[in-house]
Amino acid sequence: MFAKECEISERIQKYEALLARLQPNHPILPTVLAEYKTWLAGYKGEKSLVFYLSMLPDPKYLIFHNIRLLLGKYFFQIDYLILCEAFVLVLEVKNRIGEYFFEKYLNQATLKYNGQDERVKNPVLQARLQAMKLKKWLQKHNCPDIPVYHLFVNSNGKATIRVERGNEQILQNICNSESLIEKITQIANYNKKEILDLKEIRKMKRLILTNHTPEDFEILNHFHLLPNDIPSGVQCPPPCNFIPMKYEYGTWICPNCQFKSKTAHIQAIYDHFLLIKPSITNSELRQLLHINSPSVANKLLKKMDLTFSGRKKSKIYFPKNGCIPRTRTSS
Ligand SMILES: [Zn+2]
Repeated sequence: MFAKECEISERIQKYEALLARLQPNHPILPTVLAEYKTWLAGYKGEKSLVFYLSMLPDPKYLIFHNIRLLLGKYFFQIDYLILCEAFVLVLEVKNRIGEYFFEKYLNQATLKYNGQDERVKNPVLQARLQAMKLKKWLQKHNCPDIPVYHLFVNSNGKATIRVERGNEQILQNICNSESLIEKITQIANYNKKEILDLKEIRKMKRLILTNHTPEDFEILNHFHLLPNDIPSGVQCPPPCNFIPMKYEYGTWICPNCQFKSKTAHIQAIYDHFLLIKPSITNSELRQLLHINSPSVANKLLKKMDLTFSGRKKSKIYFPKNGCIPRTRTSS
């Protein structure tokens, strides 16, 4: 049972908003696109595991996708956390093509692709580190002492795994997606002692969910861009993408392709939340949409499903529950 569903991260939505709004000839565009593709591939790998994880018996296993917790001064992030009454399992998912090679000495890992050897972070060590951090985190929060296992899951059907002779024990912590369920069953067979009762499981679920802190990724800072680098205005939907559409009597009209829309401003507001800041005032909205009338701005804001603080002219609007719906889809 999914306690936290596999959903696309806000980080990926931010890349999508930036890619849509940047000028097609902007020099940073290829870098943004390359990073976006890497994050999207990672997400697709995680998403592909939903099919396998759904086969786990309900409600015995609680599955959490993409959990980020604070330990000391730093956050650690777990692709999948699986909880049952006898153990916890941490999954580190990779979705890259190539041949992984796990060296015996120094625990180094390389990924061979197109004849090139690339040193990569050893995904088994990454998984182990997350598991160690989680163990500490659970102790700190006075949870019962429960074994924490870790696995590197290769979700890419075009990737192969090789291990240097003498390093075979590392295979205990590696599997391909199709053997994930078998691996979890093996761990369950070794751990039959129930450590947590139903009440403790519920408590731990609440603890994890309430402490989960989504990352605050500032994409403009990340690419050394300024708000001025992002053209304001309502954008005509693809394939036109023209900015800005004009507002005439309740309708957005594209001067480039004559497309008409009553709702095209919604994406512009989401883009503002994703790229500039997660709040907007009436005057900021007028600047964003290139409109003059405070009452029109007010009407548009009211129609949207936003939360707000403050009164009358000092009202500030925020995305509801901090969530920005994903309205763009990847190609
Ligand atoms: Zn257009």
